[in-house]
Amino acid sequence: MKILIVEDEADIREILSFNLEAAGYETATAPSAEAALDLLDDVSLILLDVMLPGMSGYRLADLLRKERCSRIPIIFLTAKTSENDLLTGFSAGGDDYICKPFSIHEVIARVKAVLRRTTPLSEKQGAFTCGPLTIYPESQTATLNGTELDLSRKEYDLLCELTKNPNTYLSRSELINRLWKDTPYIVERTVDVHIARIRNKLGEHRDLIQNRTGFGYYIKCKNESER
Ligand code: CA
Repeated sequence: MKILIVEDEADIREILSFNLEAAGYETATAPSAEAALDLLDDVSLILLDVMLPGMSGYRLADLLRKERCSRIPIIFLTAKTSENDLLTGFSAGGDDYICKPFSIHEVIARVKAVLRRTTPLSEKQGAFTCGPLTIYPESQTATLNGTELDLSRKEYDLLCELTKNPNTYLSRSELINRLWKDTPYIVERTVDVHIARIRNKLGEHRDLIQNRTGFGYYIKCKNESER
């Protein structure tokens, strides 16, 4: 996914570009709104500074929405913090708003959240859905009824493996082969412990993960239309 960064301060542009690429995104950068207009192909999200020389960020957002009918999500970047500015940002078609100075972790979290919220399910690359559960391999996150689950790395991997293979038993040894192949001396009990933790996090939907003695674990997907 490509993120377009529109920002007149070269330092901020570079910091954003460097860190977003480190987080796995493609980036394009523009020092002005005018330059940004030529770079919109394949852009999944725009990080848009408000105070720009020439056309302002708000004006660019307005132009994209009203004159070009563009639905590319926009996150405004601004040093202005008053409530009025916030409202102007949203009425100009912003999907979110980040105040400078920002932490790069916050920017990446907001980018992920906006992309998740605004990308239609069919366009979400490689997402697996099973009832209330959706796995996003690209961001290595999972949501339950739209709320992100707080999963450890291994919990995520395990849930992803099960959801990729719905209604299919995966034995403990098979799961160990797939997920712990680089770790010696893993016992089958380790799988059970991770499953128990995931089930806790699934709360009332804990029964999505089923097990059967001698067969292993599987994730219950009612039918293919849920996928
Ligand atoms: Ca600026």
